[in-house]
Amino acid sequence: MLVPLENIIHKLEGDQGDFIKPIRENCVACKRCITVCPVNLWYLDDGKANIKDDYKKLCLECGACWQSCEYNAIDFTYPKGGTGVIFKRG
Ligand code: SF4
Ligand code: SF4
Repeated sequence: MLVPLENIIHKLEGDQGDFIKPIRENCVACKRCITVCPVNLWYLDDGKANIKDDYKKLCLECGACWQSCEYNAIDFTYPKGGTGVIFKRG
């Protein structure tokens, strides 16, 4: 049985900073980021990858988009300390 995402993750609110940024000039629209993102935050916008405006609410900080991009078209760090996702055990 699938467990709802909200039962597993918890977000610590606060100024997370812009921890993911598309670098449009490097994007070749291969769509790997779109394919790998487990919460569907990426989309093509005028032939280049873009991330949803509210990505901070849902991003799991897995880094899969960044790791899958072979064209250095995604700038990924992590949210500022004390903010972001917490995964519950159980
Ligand atoms: S993986 Fe990189 S090059 Fe491919 S669509 Fe996403 S951002 Fe663009
Ligand atoms: S870090 Fe993970 S969840 Fe966040 S946008 Fe990238 S692939 Fe999606």
